[in-house]
Amino acid sequence: MSLTVKQITDIATKQLESCGISDARRDSDTLYCYMVGIPESKMFTEYQYTLQEVLCDKYFDLIDRRASGEPLQYIVGSTEFMGLPFKVAPGVLIPRQDTETLVEDALEVMERGTLRRDPVIDLKKSWDVLDLGTGSGAIAISIAKIAPEVGVKASVTASDISKDALKIARENARLNGAEKMVKFVEGDLFAPLGGVLGTKKFDMIISNPPYIPTEVIDTLQVEVKDHEPMMALDGGEDGLDIYRRIAEALPKHLKKDGVLMLEIGHDQREAVTGILKETELFFDIRCHQDLARKDRVIFAVR
Ligand code: GLN
Repeated sequence: MSLTVKQITDIATKQLESCGISDARRDSDTLYCYMVGIPESKMFTEYQYTLQEVLCDKYFDLIDRRASGEPLQYIVGSTEFMGLPFKVAPGVLIPRQDTETLVEDALEVMERGTLRRDPVIDLKKSWDVLDLGTGSGAIAISIAKIAPEVGVKASVTASDISKDALKIARENARLNGAEKMVKFVEGDLFAPLGGVLGTKKFDMIISNPPYIPTEVIDTLQVEVKDHEPMMALDGGEDGLDIYRRIAEALPKHLKKDGVLMLEIGHDQREAVTGILKETELFFDIRCHQDLARKDRVIFAVR
């Protein structure tokens, strides 16, 4: 007896629900669309069809992977960030909606000199931007793509210590027609600047560094702790290692009037603000919240 697509995706949804997957319906539909190569908007017209046995087996292989905790985005190999398509694979962190808040804030600063409508800096003619630990390239590429659309001249450099990540980031730049807009450099944080870019200083340094305290990693969802790169998550004993290392290098790499924009964990506002205050570089340090009203973005002007 052959089942319809509706019946099959219902069974898959139940299987995912029983494994504690929260968006079970969405995931079972998305995996179906991915398998047959149709946009999700076409799903409704598919429900009535019956599915060949080979496709059915193929479908449940995908469902089993998702049921075991593999992130949906790694299975389908892509995600969206700032309305742009990004390829993702286990070598890079999956771009999060929280990070869109960071990018939106950065673009507002560049375009208007305001942050959440508060004037924060004088307008600049052009922006030399550095994205540290770019991973999939989501921050660097979306800034490079969107800035010119809002009338901002931006030249973006992106570093990552991981060769695998940079390979994906470069593919993402190509995918978005931004290969000439972002310069990718390999190395640990500012390390490539010693070689490729000398002592170059930037108008904006932006980063979503690893910030989870090592012992918290074990408490994260299976999707994150068993599948995403530790290198992109583990911020050391107190989660703040990378912020300290970034802060140390700022005198050399951030221009006067330059802006620092960092994503932080929801409980790191005071600690990260403290690290930046100690540098005595900044006259304005602010923290803003993400859509869930959690502290997420640190902004500072030199
Ligand atoms: N926001 C990510 C998470 O919740 C962590 C990203 C990071 O460490 N930069 O898993």
